[in-house]
Amino acid sequence: MKKLLLPLLLLLLITVKAQYLVDTHNDILSVVLMTGADVGKLQNTGNFDLVRAKQGGLNAQVFSIWCSGDYGKGAAYARANREIDSLDALIKRNPAKMMKVSTPAQFKEAIATHKLAAMVGVEGGHMIEDRMDYLDALAKRGMRYMTLTWNNSTSWASSARDETVRRDSLKHIGLTEYGKQIVRHMNDLGVMVDVSHVGEQTFYDVIATTTKPIIASHSCVYALDRNRRNLKDEQLKALAKNGGVVFVNFYSGFVDSAYDAKASRFLRQHRAELDSLIKIYHDNDLSIQQLNKLHQTETDQMRPPFDMLIKHIDYIVKLIGVDHVGIGADFDGAESYPLGLDSVADYPKVFAALKKLGYSQSDINKIKGGNFMRVFEASVGK
Ligand SMILES: [Zn+2]
Repeated sequence: MKKLLLPLLLLLLITVKAQYLVDTHNDILSVVLMTGADVGKLQNTGNFDLVRAKQGGLNAQVFSIWCSGDYGKGAAYARANREIDSLDALIKRNPAKMMKVSTPAQFKEAIATHKLAAMVGVEGGHMIEDRMDYLDALAKRGMRYMTLTWNNSTSWASSARDETVRRDSLKHIGLTEYGKQIVRHMNDLGVMVDVSHVGEQTFYDVIATTTKPIIASHSCVYALDRNRRNLKDEQLKALAKNGGVVFVNFYSGFVDSAYDAKASRFLRQHRAELDSLIKIYHDNDLSIQQLNKLHQTETDQMRPPFDMLIKHIDYIVKLIGVDHVGIGADFDGAESYPLGLDSVADYPKVFAALKKLGYSQSDINKIKGGNFMRVFEASVGK
């Protein structure tokens, strides 16, 4: 009996308090593959490392496995595996600080032993290269969500970008029959269906197909910033009805409708410098991140006020309830975040702001991680 008491107490503590903090989207692995940075140690660039994660109280991170649509068949799946290799290597170098997690039981073990729960999310259905066996293999390597598309559509699902920018030239809009099979198979495998980046038609086809709650791993509110990556009120309501959760993205471009114009002007003014950075990094997004850092005084002025991010969280809570919102910051995946949000060390500011707005601790706990756990358990089992 005594032997059982401690684990039981721990479990009770975790279940009742549920004070863990989960972030469902971080792109550091792409950066690590390009720069070789050791994020087990404190970095002076980027937004994530294990030291700052600890400072920010981060308990669980879903690491995004990502490559652009330029990686076609024969390349995308291999690239995804290399990124998972790099996560496994990071964990191997830091066994006392983090552990790989693919079930709620492992998640709770990580929390109880004060390790960062490291999870895998694959951002872009193109990485399964239209193959169900690749989907199985990635699930086996720990993938617990797959974003059905990135900006590029797949042969079975249309993306938000393509549904809005090149709708007329799409061969199909929404999910194809094969796309529906993939969604059902993800349900069976316990891989959460992520609708961030998908087009509206794909979104509604997913809602009609899935038997499990869905997630939007890193999206904001369209009513506050009319960006095609953000969710409209009707989508948010449908997501709530499905039992799903939207994890709010911190990227300035999704938070503030005024940001895009400022960012475009800045890029035009520094075009030559950006071109030379692209020659060094061979990656547009990473080069823009570097350019922003080189002109910090100027780019700081382009950042939205911190409260604008809080408005997105509060809007979702008021529209569909506190059970359907969480955090998916998109750190290391964007060049700009609202003022005060520089890295994973800054999450506590978000929860302090919610507290100031009158949110109860139990509601804040849901936003921090409780809502994630509900969907995770509904997908994978306990
Ligand atoms: Zn993304």
